[in-house]
Amino acid sequence: MMQRTRVAIFGGGIAALTAAFELTEQDPEQTRYDIAIYTLGWRLGGKCLVGRDAHRDCRALEHGLHVWAGFYDNSFDLVQRLYARLGRPNDEWREKFEGLNHFTAMELVDGVWKPWLLSARPNARDPGIDGNGGFAPVTLLRTLLTWVEESFLNSPLAQFLEPNAQVSMHREIAAVMGVPHDVVFPTPLSAIAALLDRSAAEPAKIEAGDRDRLVGAFRRQVTSAVGAAPDGDEARRFDILYDLAGGLIQGLLSADVLSSGFDAIDDLEWSAWMKQNGCRQDSLESAIVRGCYDYVFGYVKGIREVSAGVGTLALLRLLLTHKGSIFYTLREPMADFLFAPLYKYLCGRKVKFNFFHRLDALHLSSDGSRIERVALSRQVDLKDPRAEYEPLIDVPGRDFKSWPIHPDYSQIKNGHLLEGHDLESAWTDWAGTNNEVTLRLRSPDVQGSAIDTFDIAILGTGFGGLHSICHELRDFYPDTWGRCLDEVKTTQTLAVQLWLNKETAQLGWHDPGTVLVGFGDERRDWSHSPLQSWQDNTPLLAAEYAGGGRIARSLAYFVGVFPDAEVIPPPSPYPQFPKAEIERAKAAIVPWMNRQLPVLWPNARDACGSGFNWGLLQAPPGTAGAARLDAQYVRVNINPWERYVLSTPGSLRSRLWPDGTGVSNLFLAGDWVRTGLDAGCIEAAVMSGRATARAITGGSMSIPGFGNSGRIPIPVTLLPVVSLLKQLKAGAAGGVGSMEGYCVTIWRDSDAVQRLLPAGLALDPPLGLGPEASSRRRHPIVFLFSRQKNVRPGFVPIGGMRYHEVIELIPFVKQNSINAPSGGPFNYMPHLFLDEIAPVWIGVNLYGFNKRLARITSRDGSFQVQCDLGEIGTDLSERGLPGQAANPRFSRLKSVRRLLEHPLISLTTSGAFVYSHLDFRFDSATFQGAYGQVGLGAPFDPEPCPTGTLDIPSIVDEDFGAFRFQTNWHLSVPLSAGIEPASVVPPDLQAFAATLLSRRRP
Ligand SMILES: Cc1cc2nc3c(=O)[nH]c(=O)nc-3n(C[C@H](O)[C@H](O)[C@H](O)COP(=O)(O)OP(=O)(O)OC[C@H]3O[C@@H](n4cnc5c(N)ncnc54)[C@H](O)[C@@H]3O)c2cc1C
Repeated sequence: MMQRTRVAIFGGGIAALTAAFELTEQDPEQTRYDIAIYTLGWRLGGKCLVGRDAHRDCRALEHGLHVWAGFYDNSFDLVQRLYARLGRPNDEWREKFEGLNHFTAMELVDGVWKPWLLSARPNARDPGIDGNGGFAPVTLLRTLLTWVEESFLNSPLAQFLEPNAQVSMHREIAAVMGVPHDVVFPTPLSAIAALLDRSAAEPAKIEAGDRDRLVGAFRRQVTSAVGAAPDGDEARRFDILYDLAGGLIQGLLSADVLSSGFDAIDDLEWSAWMKQNGCRQDSLESAIVRGCYDYVFGYVKGIREVSAGVGTLALLRLLLTHKGSIFYTLREPMADFLFAPLYKYLCGRKVKFNFFHRLDALHLSSDGSRIERVALSRQVDLKDPRAEYEPLIDVPGRDFKSWPIHPDYSQIKNGHLLEGHDLESAWTDWAGTNNEVTLRLRSPDVQGSAIDTFDIAILGTGFGGLHSICHELRDFYPDTWGRCLDEVKTTQTLAVQLWLNKETAQLGWHDPGTVLVGFGDERRDWSHSPLQSWQDNTPLLAAEYAGGGRIARSLAYFVGVFPDAEVIPPPSPYPQFPKAEIERAKAAIVPWMNRQLPVLWPNARDACGSGFNWGLLQAPPGTAGAARLDAQYVRVNINPWERYVLSTPGSLRSRLWPDGTGVSNLFLAGDWVRTGLDAGCIEAAVMSGRATARAITGGSMSIPGFGNSGRIPIPVTLLPVVSLLKQLKAGAAGGVGSMEGYCVTIWRDSDAVQRLLPAGLALDPPLGLGPEASSRRRHPIVFLFSRQKNVRPGFVPIGGMRYHEVIELIPFVKQNSINAPSGGPFNYMPHLFLDEIAPVWIGVNLYGFNKRLARITSRDGSFQVQCDLGEIGTDLSERGLPGQAANPRFSRLKSVRRLLEHPLISLTTSGAFVYSHLDFRFDSATFQGAYGQVGLGAPFDPEPCPTGTLDIPSIVDEDFGAFRFQTNWHLSVPLSAGIEPASVVPPDLQAFAATLLSRRRP
């Protein structure tokens, strides 16, 4: 029987658990994977965990408030499938969520706080995955244009549109569009939409002047209506909203975004980018914008720091792609409705949970290619070493299980000694057992039980704690891991839960169930407004124990940023530090409650009107004044892994993809991992878990929103689903994938190489590439031996194939025909071998690639290819440390890159030349020197050497030497000369096609 792959997952947050769930989904017979989860402490949930306080009504104590957005397709899908697997009634998952179609942003106008209620129209769609996708900028821009126009024309401002202003607006539109004046566009926004339609093939080519004139006309239309409307909050607010909308539209219309996606503006701060796009300062300082920053804790040292790309994509997805409601509040804490059932389900699927296991370090093999050893500490011993820790408790009077605030001491050896020690604290003084546990990579030399060996590791422990866990990775891969650990930023957060003995309405707030943001003045220091967001979470009281004592009448959750202490001690036995931090937080919260809470809740003022009525807080009898806060829950999220992951400008390129670790048996899960939704949120964490499981299993899994949604990236191969082939043929197919493998270059007699080319193609000497090239008698041939992963079309959210591929490539090839497009030299591939049928089929039929099925096996640098034409074999080893192209060690790569970076030319079965572009993205690839032997016979080597084996030096030592590399590539759609590109062809490819086709040879 085949051995099952042992997967060790570290961390018990939503990302890690999603990865475990999806692995089980791909392994229904439980024959492929042995899964073990190792996590700190006694409970699951990570930043969404809950602890039920058995001494106080089983209150649910949490890290902070958690709201789901209506666009969390992957997260809702997870809940839906989990409930289905558990055999729960079809609609039971719905009971856990309450759709919310509005939220409040607090405005500070002339020193007065005013609630600004913002509504979003619900729709009939069901949250989850429904096959609809498409988050490219141009798609979102079109939706935005319609949405803003409809909203504007249906707003009260519309009645103040002045006829004269309308006439001049129509003139302006007519001039830009080149249409008669009587062609009426209701606003300049539909004219922009028409312009997009008109230049559908190349939206990025819309003239900046036309764009500015139309957006300017819209702004003037709004200004004139606002000017004519009566002064007041309503007009002022619409003015702000449409100013922001104008900025977004202008920004999205920029060529960079339309052609390269949201990543193109990642280096810019969101507010600065909006300002560049014409937004007024007062709009950028408005409550709605402040609220957006609060929502993502988007500040570093009190300064706004959100990437323009990530911020814009998240905002557009929230506004335009939500299903049902824009937000969903939770009727139970996530840890109860999701983590507890998930835990039970995964136990049933034989996933082994190892609570009380702290991951300390990942140790690399000496060549950096594998995780060889994992160091953990076991925090406690169980009384019965053969038993498994049972983490859930019953909530008295309720029919579900939850997680306790402390571990169950009765199951733990000497458990009574644990009381008062926090196993989840980086500064715990619990010496406990602290037994070291080592997991070793299973190999022929290291065998062992599933308990102490692993094949694959998934790192899901949250970003903040990775610096020490990943120190070897940082040293070995400074360009990728080092950069990631340095450049992805996090922030501490502060959360408060208040149990009140009055209903929300009795406090003077008339919108129960509120989610509110923007309740802070950015110009003041942090202690003035430590908590900027509030959620009325009163429905959660229903899940508390109702048996004894008084049940609160309302429950308020507040959260905010918590600035770092001046000095944060490194993890060490120092419990005084977290205690001091709670006191620092309370020192700001108490005056804030006295000063600010009565602003929100006018009836919460004390009798003399000087501050907060502390009697409203539930507390034991005899507790007076601010001491009643001690009976609430104040939480400082200061442990390294608890820090909220930020999306600061320029950090996107430092994030690592779930399968982009550079290490063959290490995968990532977490909201800090690159997914395409690169923001600290539940959806990003779920996406990363799914992507990691997809990468490991090679299974077919739809992950809406995954990848750079801006690009419709480019195809090479893919899908087992034949119906999609039609779509591919229709136009904008696009494929991406990642490859890991070896590159070898050999030089051969030019006449012999020429014989590998079909009629119509000739060698173009690669002048300037060294003496061999200049002699014109020798020509290079490049061989790529690779393991391909996640190969899929970018526009279809399924796929993700794995296979071997061996490419023979002749660089510097030209076309003989006088009518041939220039744009070359080209690269021609006389042979491509794959061990998977679908990509062969697609490659041959769509691209004219000479693909053949072959039997290919590989292990590290050894590849064996057997096909109908003959055999190829390699025996390559790595030499030296890996690094990126910019590293001086790899200066010789430049010449090989010049061989590989040209467009591809191929010949279809119908005899037409086809052009495409395989972008290896070498700037972000990882390289390592390699050397050894390659066995090539005829016909692959046009001048076979007598021994059949060639010695290949390393690129570190010689030009055109061998190297190992790992990269994520893109392949363009295929284009034929003379054929007009279809309108669905993506803009970046349009640019490529234009270069290729426009310049004809003299
Ligand atoms: C205050 C606050 C409010 C938020 N509100 C929202 C919201 O409203 N909506 C939303 O979508 N998102 C919200 N988020 C973000 C969301 O909670 C996170 O994005 C998500 O929970 C991250 O999940 P994760 O699995 O990536 O990491 P985590 O949840 O951090 O999980 C990490 C796991 O690893 C474990 N671990 C850590 N170190 C070790 C170690 N050394 N060894 C073993 N195990 C370890 C931890 O115990 C934990 O189980 C909020 C976050 C915070 C902090």
